[in-house]
Amino acid sequence: MGKHASGNPGILWWAVSMIRPGKIVCVGRNYRDHAKEMGNEIPKEPLIFLKPPSSVIGTGSPIVLPRASSHVEFEGEIGVVIGTALRRATSEEAMAAVRGVLAMNDVTARDLQRSDLQWTRAKGFDSFCPVAAAPIPDLDLDTLTIVTRVNGTEKQRATSADMVFPIHELLAYISHIMTLEPGDLVATGTPAGVGPLVAGDVVEVIVAGVSRVTNPVIEDEE
Ligand code: ZN
Repeated sequence: MGKHASGNPGILWWAVSMIRPGKIVCVGRNYRDHAKEMGNEIPKEPLIFLKPPSSVIGTGSPIVLPRASSHVEFEGEIGVVIGTALRRATSEEAMAAVRGVLAMNDVTARDLQRSDLQWTRAKGFDSFCPVAAAPIPDLDLDTLTIVTRVNGTEKQRATSADMVFPIHELLAYISHIMTLEPGDLVATGTPAGVGPLVAGDVVEVIVAGVSRVTNPVIEDEE
């Protein structure tokens, strides 16, 4: 029996309302095969970092390749939107506070991630956080399937059952560090299969059957 999210259906979200999440908390190395493909150990506790709200774009908007990087990659992820504030929560309290789930892309300048001690630059460029328009409530968070396609070719596929730390544990863990507030977005990590994006690509992240975000990739022409 899986854990279920609860929340209000039908709430229009960022792409429509232009309201951004107050913060975006991301989880690194949360799938064993991805940690392995990057040459990293599986973390003993969740590895978290922040993405700036200004990186958010909606479906259809372009991912702009920054001039500072020559190697930008997609990371398809299951995004969890918080509905009610969570502070020092148990797993059960965390589950009850979930508004819904959406497809998102934790776009990363991999070369800058490797050269910088902190990941703020590598993860934080404008347009580096495509998110689907609305969180989908009442899903079984332990059986979600995440798929990424580039130009129609499947690159990533995994289920939330493959996570090192399941979603309810991630939320409870984060809530012991910082209060999760309504509208905050938690990116739950990317599975194996990450790869480069070049201008002209179209990248799609799908939470199977429920949520999708699709974005073209362009050079920075400014
Ligand atoms: Zn990620």
